[in-house]
Amino acid sequence: MSVNSLRELLAGLDPVAAGAAMHAFAAELQPIPRSLTGDGVRQTLARIGERIPLVAHEVPTGTPVLDWTVPREWNLRGAWVKGPDGATAVDAERSPLHVVGYSVPVRARMPLAELQEHLHSLPEHPDWVPYRTSYWKEAWGFCLADSERKRLREGDYEVSIDATLADGALTYGECFLPGESDREVLVSCHVCHPALANDNLSGLALATVLAERLATAPRRFGYRFLFVPGTIGAIAWLARSEGRLDRIEHGLVVANVGDRGGFHYKQSRRGNATIDRAVPRALAELGEEVTVEPFVPFGYDERQYCSPGFDLPVGSLTRTPWGRYPEYHTSADDLSFITPGALGGSLRAYLAVVTALEENRRYRNLAPKGEPQLGRRGLYGSVGGTIGGREREMAMLWVLNQSDGGPDLLAIAERSGVPLSRLAEAARALVDAGLLVETAG
Ligand code: ZN
Repeated sequence: MSVNSLRELLAGLDPVAAGAAMHAFAAELQPIPRSLTGDGVRQTLARIGERIPLVAHEVPTGTPVLDWTVPREWNLRGAWVKGPDGATAVDAERSPLHVVGYSVPVRARMPLAELQEHLHSLPEHPDWVPYRTSYWKEAWGFCLADSERKRLREGDYEVSIDATLADGALTYGECFLPGESDREVLVSCHVCHPALANDNLSGLALATVLAERLATAPRRFGYRFLFVPGTIGAIAWLARSEGRLDRIEHGLVVANVGDRGGFHYKQSRRGNATIDRAVPRALAELGEEVTVEPFVPFGYDERQYCSPGFDLPVGSLTRTPWGRYPEYHTSADDLSFITPGALGGSLRAYLAVVTALEENRRYRNLAPKGEPQLGRRGLYGSVGGTIGGREREMAMLWVLNQSDGGPDLLAIAERSGVPLSRLAEAARALVDAGLLVETAG
C-alpha cells in the first residue's frame, strides 16, 4: 500500500489498530536480554530488520569514539543466588532485571551480610525489582524485590554469574529511507534496556512502525532511524558520521511513548530550531496538549546530538519524561504499563510532526505590490464554492502577505491560526499560478 503524501498517510492512520500492533511488537521484543552490547542487541535488531531495511553496525571493542572508548562486550548465560537451604533465591532466568547489567563473572560462597552489599531493592516499592547497570565500573550484583530480600535468612549463600565480558563489539542499527532531497530527519532511540516497556520497548516499537509507514509515502526528506545503545551508541554513530552531519535538518529522540501521560516536548539546545516550532504546532493541530520544556544537558541521547560541537536540531517528544513516574527503571515498567491507545496516539503525533516538517516551506511572493488579483487567475474559482472555500481564500491571503522570504509556513500558521495543511495547499496553488516561488531555507 502506498499513499500520495504524508498528510494522506496521517489522515488514513488508524491509531487503535496501529497501537495494538505496536504493543504486540513490544511484547515480542520484551524477553530478549538487551544490554549495552551483546547478542541481545543483535537479536533485537534482527527482529526490527525483519520489518524495515536495517543495517547492523559492529564497532570493535577498544575503538576510540570521540572522548570515549568502545567497551568490552557483555553476554550473560545465567545468574543465580542459592540460599543456605540450597533453594534458589534469585534467578536471572525469571527476569534479566535480576542481575546488574555488565556484572563481572563471579562464583562464590559468602555469608548473607557480604551478599547484602551486592543486592539492590526498593524499600518504597517492596514488590518491584529495580533496574541497575554498572557499565563503566567493574562490579557485580543482583536486583530483587525488597519483600523477597527481607525474607533472606542468615547463612551462607552461593552466587553465580556466568557471563562473558570480553573483546567483541558494540552493535547499533541504522535504517535510512532516502528522500527527494539530501536533507535528513534523524529519529533516534536507545536499544540497551532489558525488559522495560515504556523506557525502551515503546520507543523501539514506535521508531520501527514509523519507519514502516514512512517507507510507503513519498518523502521530501531522507529519514535516518537509529537504534543505538544509550550514550556510547550515539557517540559511536556521531564519531563515524562526522563528515555528513550537516545533512541533519531536524531530529527527534523517541522514548517513553507508551504510558498514559500527556505529551512532553524537550526542545533542542538551539530552542528555536524548526523542530522546536513544528512539534507544538503539529500537536496543537491534532488537538493534543503538549508541555514544552527547554533543553537541559541530561536525559537521553539528545544530550549527545546537542553537544556544542554538533549542536544538531534534535529535540525529544515523549509522554511522561524519564524519572517522573514511579515505575521508571523498575520491573513495574512492564507491558501492562504501556497501552495500545497511548502507543497509537504517539505514532499519530510523530506522523503529524513529520508531516508538518515535510509541508513547511518558505516562499517569496512574486507580486508583492498590492494584492494580486486572485479571481483573474481562477484562484477563487478553483478553491472557492466548496466547503472551506473561505478558509482557503484566507490561507492564500496569509501566504501572499507573509511570504517575503522571511517567515516559513510554520511561522505563518502560528501567526494566522490557519492550519498548516491549509497554508501548504494554498501555497501549492499560488506556485502553480506563478504568484509564489519557493526560496531556500
Ligand atoms: Zn533508561
